[in-house]
Amino acid sequence: STILVTGANGYIAAWIVRTLLEKGYNVRGTVRSKEKGIRMQEIFEKYGDKFGYVLVPDITKEGAFDDAVKCVDAIAHTASPVNFSTVDPQDLIQPAVRGIKSILRSATQKGSNVQRIVFTSSTAAVLEVDPKPRIFSEDDWNTQSVAWVERDGKDAHPITKYRASKTLAEQAAWKFVEENKAMIKWDLVVLNPPFVFGPITHDVPTLSALGLSAGMFHSIVVGHSDAGGKTPQELRSTGNCWIDVRDLAEGEVLAFRKEEVANQRVIICAGAFVWQEWLDVANSIAPDHLPSHSNLPKGVPISSSDPEIVYQIQYDTSKADRLLGIKYRTKEELIKDTFADYEARGW
Ligand code: NDP
Repeated sequence: STILVTGANGYIAAWIVRTLLEKGYNVRGTVRSKEKGIRMQEIFEKYGDKFGYVLVPDITKEGAFDDAVKCVDAIAHTASPVNFSTVDPQDLIQPAVRGIKSILRSATQKGSNVQRIVFTSSTAAVLEVDPKPRIFSEDDWNTQSVAWVERDGKDAHPITKYRASKTLAEQAAWKFVEENKAMIKWDLVVLNPPFVFGPITHDVPTLSALGLSAGMFHSIVVGHSDAGGKTPQELRSTGNCWIDVRDLAEGEVLAFRKEEVANQRVIICAGAFVWQEWLDVANSIAPDHLPSHSNLPKGVPISSSDPEIVYQIQYDTSKADRLLGIKYRTKEELIKDTFADYEARGW
């Protein structure tokens, strides 16, 4: 069968494309320019015409995906702006919200073969800032960021603007399903991953072009001897949850295959971290796996006599275990393969 992947040249999407191709699917990827499409064709050359690209220059336009959805059996929607630097929150919110609405509408009106749409939301649409450590589940919604953006506009924290865009986009998706129940022939699956790290398979000509999460990982764990400016205290107290990009891509494929996951919101997450843990794993394997980096940031390594690490944010992942049954890679596996990727690229 044929699957449409939107924003196919992105970090996560390119792994979804690759994983689908490896499993024998035909893939159509939407990109915003011909140059990006050609680069993708080069990257996936060995799959021949099993991969093809479709130009969708502006996802916010009504009917933007009308042609792209024809003749596909399912859709993975990932295209959305990912950055913590936008000034006007609407520059994140509009493409995120209009993008998902636009593809759902096109799928309904023109995608006569479409059976399932998997939307990559985020734990950004789940978590709320809380001084106390918390364990969130699929029942939680981040309405806090939306309220803060309404209150503060351009002055809202950049992360808050991004989080609001993800909450509003996911809400728009479920609202569309609710309002168009009688008409739609497909079902929706929403995956909510936390920070996504791991090797890259998309086109990244220079290190500075690495996207948000992979770039943050490189900058803190590898790039700067001062761990991206984080103090030892911050390295131990700040972090989040994570998933290997390859496991997320596997999860997306499972989300197409498993009947039980229809119309479910699923948090997909390997575990919690504080940055010091990544530094400790990195330093333990760097001599073998990152020979050209002899001065990785060290922070203050965690020892067995230290007080237990407190994770501010954790997720109940029992739903993903039950419905998808993903086997998550470990921090060690992620670091080894990511370092091998850096070495191969001369970073
Ligand atoms: P990337 O920045 O690598 O890729 C984003 C993709 O979306 C690119 O193809 C990009 O196209 C496209 N895109 C961005 N803005 C627009 C726009 N205004 N109109 C049309 N297309 C646009 O991001 P990731 O791979 O990291 O993220 C992919 C998805 O996963 C996003 O929805 C993100 O919210 C979600 N996610 C990411 C996490 C992470 O840690 N990375 C965590 C949780 C969720 P172009 O290259 O042309 O700009």
